[in-house]
Amino acid sequence: MSEINLGIIGGGQLGSLLCNAAKKLNIKTIIFSDDIESPAKNFSDEFIFGDYKDKNKITEFVNKVDIITYEFENIPFETLNELNKIKTVLPKPSINRLIQHRLAEKDFINKLNIRTTRYVSIEKKSDLDTLEDFMPGILKTTTMGYDGKGQFPIRDIKEINSINIDFSKDYILEKLVKLKKEISVIITRFGNNKYEIYEPIENIHENQILKQSKIPADISENISVQSKNWAIQIAEELKYIGTLCVEFFIDRNENLYVNEIAPRVHNSGHLTINAYNISQFENHIRAICSLEKIAIKKLFNAKMINLIGNEIVPYRQNLKLNNNEFFFDYLKKEIKDKRKMGHLTILN
Ligand code: ADP
Ligand code: MG
Repeated sequence: MSEINLGIIGGGQLGSLLCNAAKKLNIKTIIFSDDIESPAKNFSDEFIFGDYKDKNKITEFVNKVDIITYEFENIPFETLNELNKIKTVLPKPSINRLIQHRLAEKDFINKLNIRTTRYVSIEKKSDLDTLEDFMPGILKTTTMGYDGKGQFPIRDIKEINSINIDFSKDYILEKLVKLKKEISVIITRFGNNKYEIYEPIENIHENQILKQSKIPADISENISVQSKNWAIQIAEELKYIGTLCVEFFIDRNENLYVNEIAPRVHNSGHLTINAYNISQFENHIRAICSLEKIAIKKLFNAKMINLIGNEIVPYRQNLKLNNNEFFFDYLKKEIKDKRKMGHLTILN
């Protein structure tokens, strides 16, 4: 088989881990990122730095690759659409456009008769005035948010005046769910009713940032079945190709809600690298490159801990690991508060 050149837009840790998986499959990776310090350039075969709207850079990138994917949502639709006219972009640009917009995403999910949190569109400050019954709530920018960025928890409408919110942006207001637990389901779809699905992963967030993930999730059989069925339904409806993650809330009355969809590999799935025969990253590449679909098998139960900010330091100083522990350093130059610097996976 001739060599495949895989183009990846975005240069974060998800891109890095995709590059590692590609290497295993003898696939060459070319990262295109608007961050000159992209951690993924340490893992890819080639790196192109440029603005996502820079026509010359887009042309340079597209000429080097056979197929294109992306590792985060916040890429201009026009860029993905232009690229897709020349080389196949997967997941389809239209899917990314839908999911990168929190309102469109939630409308789509509700049309499938799948439960989400209660939500309402906020276009100007006065829209909030009459929304007492959405309190306590959480105000989120409709686009460009991640890791809790662009989110404002609000306990009481009266608080609004004391919070510095830029109302030139569009928002969604969600009623806060009284959380019992959060889980995610990762599915890789290869074609019509052809997919591999990982068991639900239990997630713990701190300050809206993922801190820990583990399998098995401590959930009922009902929730397990329903979450997987909803993930399958979403993937089929989108005619999705590649790896997709659905994030769920479980409330104190055992109701399941879809929180959001990630049209990509996901942080909660990092443990699939060590706990399964085929990781979410390898499966993504297998699906988009039309390689063989291999049945996934769990090898170990596992826990993944995100190393945020300074937590990376002791691990970088050669902390001794047990042979069931795996440390990943994303090689980000600057340690920042709330920045995901690496992770640790512990098998058992
Ligand atoms: P991001 O795109 O930053 O991941 P999310 O919408 O997934 O944004 O929110 C991040 C985290 O914040 C969630 O995983 C959850 O812990 C908390 N959160 C967000 N929205 C709600 C909500 N409506 N009710 C309860 N918790 C929420
Ligand atoms: Mg999320």
